[in-house]
Amino acid sequence: MRNVIIVGSGCAGLTAAIYTARANLKPLVIEGNEPGGQLSLTTHVENYPGFPEGVLGPELIDNMRKQAQKFGAEFKAGSVTEADLARRPFLVTAGPEVHETRTLIIAAGASARLLGLPGEKELLGHGVSTCATCDGYFFRGKPIAVVGGGDSAMEEANFLSRYASRVYLIHRRNEFRASKIMLDRVKANGKVEWITPYVIDEIRAPEGLVTGVRLKHTQKGSFRELDLDGVFVAIGHDPNSMVFRGKLEMNQNGYLIPRHGSLTNVPGVFVAGDVQDHRYRQAVTAAGSGCMAALDAEKFLEEHRD
Ligand code: NAP
Repeated sequence: MRNVIIVGSGCAGLTAAIYTARANLKPLVIEGNEPGGQLSLTTHVENYPGFPEGVLGPELIDNMRKQAQKFGAEFKAGSVTEADLARRPFLVTAGPEVHETRTLIIAAGASARLLGLPGEKELLGHGVSTCATCDGYFFRGKPIAVVGGGDSAMEEANFLSRYASRVYLIHRRNEFRASKIMLDRVKANGKVEWITPYVIDEIRAPEGLVTGVRLKHTQKGSFRELDLDGVFVAIGHDPNSMVFRGKLEMNQNGYLIPRHGSLTNVPGVFVAGDVQDHRYRQAVTAAGSGCMAALDAEKFLEEHRD
């Protein structure tokens, strides 16, 4: 029987692990499909407080993990495939094992959607990015592309125009899903060039760094080349909440909804990080919410000693 099981090993899950381990609750962290979460897919992180010279994403995650282990957190590879939240203690299945736990912290994160092009995933941190706030600064004075036609793409295009010499907004249709106000703002931005209806057909990176893209007209099938240094994929995120569908309250996009602090509609189940946050999605906000969930779980255990 566990006091706490933490689902996910990104910033939120690891912070929850540090806090619950320090409270002597001996948490078990089930790492998930992407151990370390989105930070482990980035290179430099320059906006995490406490690192004036910046820090590598994987290094930051590794340090958090060591910190949690130092206080007694245990880790298991694999993903949660089933959760019985109708009874308490809860039953959590991960691979062949079924764990019993008094509280559950869900910090399973969200995965940025990718275009599915060859080499795209390997180029994350080497010219391909899914986070303008994280990586925009590295493209000062350089031409970049933003892919997508929703509010995220508009927000990123506007934000990136502060740094980039030119922002190509590439969208597969001539119509946009983005709200009018966001669209108008980008249209008024002289640094943004609209390229529609096109999809990226190939990302060029002959030496492991992005140098350009090949575009395909979605109606005519014709091709076009663009030289650029960065591709920001802004086609949405998917919260990793599928396994909790029908068990926990979530919005129409699958983001879990906390009710009080980090507590969900099921007493003893808490949420943290991007699986419940489609708005801020920062390492530091994820870490903060991981701390909240840990403190809430600790208090819950105190109040339910039986
Ligand atoms: P979204 O609204 O689902 O838009 C995704 C965009 O990516 C769509 O334009 C879609 O094209 C395109 N896309 C999807 N898959 C693609 C693919 N494989 N190749 C090329 N293009 C692809 O996602 P989002 O922009 O991340 O927004 C999600 C939610 O958050 C929305 O409700 C949005 O309003 C909200 N949001 C709000 C703000 C804000 O208000 N400040 C900021 C960001 C997000 P199609 O249109 O052709 O399907």
